[in-house]
Amino acid sequence: MVRLLKDESLVAQWQKFFEEYCKSDIETVALEYPEKRSLYVDYWKIDEADSRLAELLLNQPYKAIFNAEEALKNIDVASENSLKLHFRVVNLPDTSRILIRRIRANHLGKLMAVDGLVKKRTEVRPKLLVGAFQCQKCGAIIRVEQDEDILKEPSECFEDQGGCGRVSSFKLLTSLSEFIDSQKIEIQENPEGLRGGAQPERISVYLEDDLVGEIAPGDRVIVNGILHSMQRRRGTYRLTAFDKTMDAISVESQELAFEEVEVTSEDEKEILRVSKDPDLYKKMKESIAPTIYGMDVEKEALVLQLFGGLAKEMPDGTRIRGDIHTLLVGDPGTAKSQILTYMSKLAPRSVYASGKASSAAGLTAAAVRDEFGEGQWTLEAGALVLADMGIACIDEIDKMDENDRSALHQAMEQQEISVAKAGINATLKSRCALLAAANPKLGRFDEFLPLHEQINMPPALLSRFDLIFSILDKPDRERDTDLATHILLTHKAGEVSENLDRSKKSKYKMKDKEELMKIVQPTFTPEFLRKYVAYAKRNIFPVMTDEALRIIREYYVNFRSSSEEAITFTPRQLEAFVRLAEASARIRLSEEVTADDANRAIHIIDQYLKRVGLDRETGRIDIDIIATGISRSQHDRMRLIMDIIQRLCNESKDGNAARGDIIQEAEIEGLESGKVEEALDRLKRNGQIYEPVHGKYKITEY
Ligand code: ADP
Ligand code: MG
Repeated sequence: MVRLLKDESLVAQWQKFFEEYCKSDIETVALEYPEKRSLYVDYWKIDEADSRLAELLLNQPYKAIFNAEEALKNIDVASENSLKLHFRVVNLPDTSRILIRRIRANHLGKLMAVDGLVKKRTEVRPKLLVGAFQCQKCGAIIRVEQDEDILKEPSECFEDQGGCGRVSSFKLLTSLSEFIDSQKIEIQENPEGLRGGAQPERISVYLEDDLVGEIAPGDRVIVNGILHSMQRRRGTYRLTAFDKTMDAISVESQELAFEEVEVTSEDEKEILRVSKDPDLYKKMKESIAPTIYGMDVEKEALVLQLFGGLAKEMPDGTRIRGDIHTLLVGDPGTAKSQILTYMSKLAPRSVYASGKASSAAGLTAAAVRDEFGEGQWTLEAGALVLADMGIACIDEIDKMDENDRSALHQAMEQQEISVAKAGINATLKSRCALLAAANPKLGRFDEFLPLHEQINMPPALLSRFDLIFSILDKPDRERDTDLATHILLTHKAGEVSENLDRSKKSKYKMKDKEELMKIVQPTFTPEFLRKYVAYAKRNIFPVMTDEALRIIREYYVNFRSSSEEAITFTPRQLEAFVRLAEASARIRLSEEVTADDANRAIHIIDQYLKRVGLDRETGRIDIDIIATGISRSQHDRMRLIMDIIQRLCNESKDGNAARGDIIQEAEIEGLESGKVEEALDRLKRNGQIYEPVHGKYKITEY
């Protein structure tokens, strides 16, 4: 903080204010001094008491705050220590709030509020406040207050500090100097405030003393502080261009999700009315990406994802996530990216990113060493951390890098990301729902191959999604006609609209446009839907009825027992049912999860399992296909063949099993030769067997 000359009359004004309005607050802080050493004051309290002081605070903040802190030293409180408090203002007026991208030269030196996401933070490091310098000629110790970033040495050995008065060289004595904690963070604009694909702008913020160490990447904050410029350097040259930075005065956190969305009492009335609509679910579904044809189940799932289930804290400290993770896999050009973009704009809080990391932090988080940290390590948040309490839309998730791949397990299930590298040891929160899209490795989706072989993602990761939808683009005369009609009419509606607005001799009327726009008109506008979602997530916490519980339990148990010894569902899927059913109840603003909600969850999961979990050979749904990549029947067959190979190896003279013999033996056990060859190939690919001589196999010993 810049140190200035004391202005006695200003100090007196502040003193009067503090004594009249803040006495009890100061006494509260004094009780915990020096652990607590900041007095927080609401801007409006100052404005009400003395509007000139408030104005000075906004326009000449350094001067106002310096003198206010001087005044605080004069306040009498019952405390054995003499207090040295920071004066921190919060809740600045809207006129002082500014978007990072709108900061201009005339804002410099003013007290402003910027809000955004914490993208990076450096470690906390000591910063020199008062340097103690020893004169190399006479040995006197000269103290110099440091108020800039560049070290300020004494210009001479000051006589008023007992020095020799000569120009000398000095040595900095750190043990006698005074330091203050400091930290640098980077704030990025909130993604919701951005239009289209605009890149978020950023600003560096300096925190000092008791403000440090409290903020983690991914936090949403309002920083109240003084904007100023910092000279750029190129090597040792100082340039005339400056960077904008901010000295923080106070930091307010915006922890509560959805508080950005304002719901008025009028909105509330409308929301309550709509919630009783018998066609509510259909209308909700129709309000999701209306330009995209079909995808009924997907859209229904997306509505449920938007509302989400309930996150639960258990007495033993475990947390069960309520967020629903969804994956769309499918052929190119099936509007996956389009859906993701749409959802990221619709959701009250969201981040859109591509798996091909655009920053070092990628999808999760990273410790990086870059210019920002000025030689030190910085902790940087990736997309899933930035989307905390919202939805992370990740396109082409199959292209993510190795670091993310391993961190994603924890991020999806525990909703935390741990970073332990280079002395940085941090756990960041990623309490978000993940909506991901992936393209098949081979360009097109093959229904007959297990999922994990087609997309570049391990089965363990796939099993963490509550829902996986495969979107196929198979020629089908009827569907193609409808889809083409829909897309062409969408374009035509757009053309008419443009023509009407821009062409001088348009032959179209407003009602032509309205007629055509009907097919792409969402039932609920995105603004309304956003409010609805925010309202439901804030107020509705439904509880499972006995009937819903029974329905889900029976479905689960029946499913597992219907398929003999095969393990079809795992408890993880059971949790997916619960989350979906809760979300379904929330949509109706219901306090209860009813039988209908349970059945809706079952219906959706059923649809997804039929598409990606179906064992083609037995016609049964088999969750093993998703979890391990092979079905139970394939697994059993491979086991049998391994046994045969083992036996043949033991019996033969050279210790190998010949291909022909294996097939023959397997046929006796009732397996077709084609299936056996397929299994042999797979076993070899997996490294479970190898081929020492052409046409002969051996089991790999570990
Ligand atoms: P993907 O990401 O699946 O490869 P895109 O989202 O890039 O596909 O979609 C390609 C284009 O095709 C988009 O302009 C999209 O609007 C259009 N499209 C694909 N499927 C549909 C559909 N079902 N309804 C409307 N438009 C579609
Ligand atoms: Mg795409």
